[in-house]
Amino acid sequence: MNDPFATHDILNQSPPFENVNLFTCDRALMDAVGREGGDQAVKRLAAFGQICGSAEGFQRQRLANENPPKLRPFDSKGFRLDTVEFHPAYHECMELSVAEGLHCSAWDHLAKPGAKPVPGANVVRSAGTYMAIQMEAGHQCPITMTNAAVPTLLLEPELASWWIPKILSRQYDKSFTPAAAKSGVTIGMGMTEKQGGTDVRANTTRAIPAGNGGPGAEYLITGHKWFMSAPMCDAFLVLAQAPGGLSCFIMPRILPDGTVNGLRFQRLKDKLGNRSNASAEVEFQAAHAWLISEEGRGVPAIIEMVTCTRLDCAVGSAGLMRLALANAIHHCRHRTVFQKHLVDQPLMSQVLADLALDVEAATALSFRLARSFDRASDPNAAAWRRMMTPVTKYWVCKIGPALAYEAMECLGGNGYVEDGIAARLYRELPVNAIWEGSGNVMALDLLRVLQREAETVEIVLDDLAAAVGGDAHLKAQLERVRAMLHEPRLLDRRGRDLAEALALLAAGTILRAHAPTAVADAFMGTRLSGGPRQTYGQNLDWAQTRAIVERAFPG
Ligand SMILES: Cc1cc2nc3c(=O)[nH]c(=O)nc-3n(C[C@H](O)[C@H](O)[C@H](O)COP(=O)(O)OP(=O)(O)OC[C@H]3O[C@@H](n4cnc5c(N)ncnc54)[C@H](O)[C@@H]3O)c2cc1C
Repeated sequence: MNDPFATHDILNQSPPFENVNLFTCDRALMDAVGREGGDQAVKRLAAFGQICGSAEGFQRQRLANENPPKLRPFDSKGFRLDTVEFHPAYHECMELSVAEGLHCSAWDHLAKPGAKPVPGANVVRSAGTYMAIQMEAGHQCPITMTNAAVPTLLLEPELASWWIPKILSRQYDKSFTPAAAKSGVTIGMGMTEKQGGTDVRANTTRAIPAGNGGPGAEYLITGHKWFMSAPMCDAFLVLAQAPGGLSCFIMPRILPDGTVNGLRFQRLKDKLGNRSNASAEVEFQAAHAWLISEEGRGVPAIIEMVTCTRLDCAVGSAGLMRLALANAIHHCRHRTVFQKHLVDQPLMSQVLADLALDVEAATALSFRLARSFDRASDPNAAAWRRMMTPVTKYWVCKIGPALAYEAMECLGGNGYVEDGIAARLYRELPVNAIWEGSGNVMALDLLRVLQREAETVEIVLDDLAAAVGGDAHLKAQLERVRAMLHEPRLLDRRGRDLAEALALLAAGTILRAHAPTAVADAFMGTRLSGGPRQTYGQNLDWAQTRAIVERAFPG
């Protein structure tokens, strides 16, 4: 104040959102982990939540996104390099996530021949993913793909026995050396081509057997991929047309003899969000790769991987939505407008509570899905996994961007500038809906279940019917779902309606059984009452909004 040129004191700004334990401050997450079978890991998750929500954690997010990866196609003398350089903050995030086992822990049992899956492993891993993505989203791409590659690799036991022990390591080894010499590896995926991503059967990339061909054999692959993220992964699961049809291969970056494989990177995408992650356009010039499963079985082989990534899309979106919400509540608790904290202004209280309802539902639904991955040998869980993966991925990823926008608005102008996290979250969230099966593709996948797997549908509907209990809104919603199923126009027109109706029904049953009454009542009264809903913060004047906000992020 002694400075004669000081124009003002800084007042009424919220303190930075940092040093928040992303596990212990998140009641919905802790409840979901406990409920779905991850109780044994609570201590470890709390320790990881501290790391992810620390000031250093959020600093990594900022640095890794403000300094996006750079492609280095050539060295100074014109020799090919085909490498990508990342900011150290990105590598730190990778180190933390790999040390936590987020790239593999669901498969730890594979280290011991004949061992059974660890109970709750997918739920625990999902909780780690939910928090790591809040620390930094882009690095989760290779983490997710590495975990998801395992079930596809398992289809080819000899290849699996070489790659999986490397995947199960907890060491992040960023060196550009042959996988055999590395202490740990990551795996990416190359499906999408210029002429089609959804329609992979239109792939033009060709695979020619190097010898006799067949499962596990070496092929030479020539063609391109239009999106291939995390290009510094040690290998990629790739689709290409072999003589016997579309097939799945594993393509290492560096060959066992130390030669760099024929992957020529053209450029990196200039993306809306997800900027810390590199997404490359690449050409394969007789790149060496090894066949997984039979020729012509490429889609069934890679679908194993895709299914696992869809779980992570839902869990990841729920995590990002959670961060957007917590950041908004934090700001509104500290910001005063017209002599009252924003959080206490009736309209803002409704907006925050309304956002919290979607986050609670998205979290509940995503972790319910994670549990079904843990119990894949149980027919009920397998049915849930099959039918509710597209439903959950569809709904959770689809509501994320709108939620991030409204959460950003809670911060006013501060939300719109790049210094904070709200703008980054807003740009990040759409990608989870677009990749790994966009909205319509998820709806079509659900319709495929209806057309081909009557027993699966029956099991899931029986499960939901049993959970509806005496709740009038849930009963009515179940009837709506049943009516849609008997509607002949449904099969090609109403996939989105049905996916959303099922998601709301399933989320509603979980909230009614397990969430506080204030949350469950408000969810049913707004999402299942049939009333109009275009934006957040409407029709909640009767609800206990303070209690909902307090549960979402205790003050
Ligand atoms: C940041 C980023 C990273 C990516 N990383 C990778 C990667 O590492 N590896 C990889 O293989 N791919 C990657 N992708 C590609 C991504 O998976 C595809 O973009 C996605 O699958 C959609 O394919 P497409 O872009 O060809 O769109 P299209 O297949 O042309 O689809 C366009 C739209 O049409 C809709 N649609 C498709 N079929 C139908 C139908 N029958 N009826 C109605 N609507 C339909 C889709 O839902 C979509 O909305 C990445 C994409 C992004 C944005």
